[in-house]
Order: sequence, then structure tokens, then C-alpha cells
Amino acid sequence: MNGKIVKAIVLAAGQGRRMESKVPKQYLQLGGHEVLYYSLRAFEESQVDEIILVTGEDEIPWCREHIVRKYGFSKVKQIIPGGEERYDSVYAGLLAAAPCDYVLIHDGARPFVTGAIIERVLSGAAEYGSCTAGMPVKDTIKVVDEAGMAEDTPDRKSLWAIQTPQGFSYPVIFEAHERFREGSYRVPVTDDTMLAEMFLRKRTKLMEGSYKNIKVTTPEDMELAEVFLGEERA
Ligand code: C5P
Repeated sequence: MNGKIVKAIVLAAGQGRRMESKVPKQYLQLGGHEVLYYSLRAFEESQVDEIILVTGEDEIPWCREHIVRKYGFSKVKQIIPGGEERYDSVYAGLLAAAPCDYVLIHDGARPFVTGAIIERVLSGAAEYGSCTAGMPVKDTIKVVDEAGMAEDTPDRKSLWAIQTPQGFSYPVIFEAHERFREGSYRVPVTDDTMLAEMFLRKRTKLMEGSYKNIKVTTPEDMELAEVFLGEERA
């Protein structure tokens, strides 16, 4: 991309306890392939220069043989072990991605990312330094207290549900993660743009993802994913 080096970190570590399955969600079979295959294929076919796949330590040889070699994903140059929490896995990916100009971070459990979404997020990263895919919420969202009582009803017009990929200028996201790791913060870290916002006061540009770009988290999501895939193949 204009002589700039772009790397993608695809996250496939973690156990996915909400799936009620022994096999982590990113390796479940969907339409004859592993869930992870689809997002790797999207990045392989995109303009990124290199992909870093982050998996569980014990799954590295299996991923090398049964995913990367089997499908010929030539842009996957490194397969590295993740960490305890998602942000530990991202940090491991960031260390492995240096040096580069831009980095895209993607949940391997989101198989319906497309080339167009990747392109939009990358252009947002290049222009704003921090960018994420997302979609306006369709439901009314309430803030609820511990007793299950509604405390507030934010204006739906200003609410987006956040997806991945998220794209950054490399120094921005690396510094945000470094600062987070230096402190002992108790905030739940559910995405990477929030670290750039919290530690660097870096504003994040939202780009349109897709209502199909779901994270396969529960058994119901797998059923939905089968439907989406069937539509694509029809
Ligand atoms: O658990 P959660 O749904 O937030 O996971 C989102 C993505 O982060 C998944 O693709 C999962 O493989 C990855 N992850 C990771 N390392 C962890 C936890 C989750 O790479 N420790």
C-alpha cells in the first residue's frame, strides 16, 4: 500500500467457553472448512503483506499442517503462541509484527470478513491512525445495574456494535498496549481501539463492517453462520 508495510494479526488462541464444545470455536467445521480458514483466506487475498497467526501453543503444529500448508496461505509467515487474555495474544502479535507501518487485528472467529471491509478499515487506519469495523445497533440498548434495573437508555442513533478488523498505525497501537501493560488497570479490555482512546486519547474512526460479520461465539451463532454460508454459495 503506497510502499507502506501492512501486517495482519489473526487471533485464534483462547478456549471459547461459551461454545459448550471441546473444540475451540475458531476450529469448528463450517461448510467443510474450519471457521478460521475463512478469515485467513480473506486476508490472504487482500492487500496485506503478511499475516501473523496467533494460536494456542499446543495448536501451532496442527495449524501449520492442517490450515496454513493445506490451503497454501503463503502470507502466513509466523504462527505464534497467544496468551491468557485476548490482549495478551494481541500483544504477542504486535511484537511479532514489528517492523511495519500499519497493522490490522482480526478475530479468527469472524469468518465473514470481506475484502471490502478490510480495505475500508485499512484506509481508515491510514487516514486516522485508529479505525474499526462496526455497524449501527438495531436494538435499543439499556445500561443495567447489578439488580437488573435499567439505569439509562442511550440514544440508539449514536450507538454502534464494534467488530473486527481494527486497524492502526503501528506505533499508535504498540504504545497503547505498552502503556496498558505498564499499569495495573482493572478495566475489561474488549477491543483494541479502547486502549488507543484511553492511553493516547486517540480518536477512532468507525467504518462500515457488515451485519454478517458476526463473531461465532455460541452454538446459535454456528447455526446462523451455516445459513450465511449457504446464501453465499447459492
Ligand atoms: O473470547 P473472545 O470471543 O473475545 O475471542 C475473540 C477472539 O480472540 C477469538 O478469535 C479468539 O480466538 C481470540 N483470543 C485469543 N487469545 C485469548 C482469547 C481470545 O487469541 N486469550
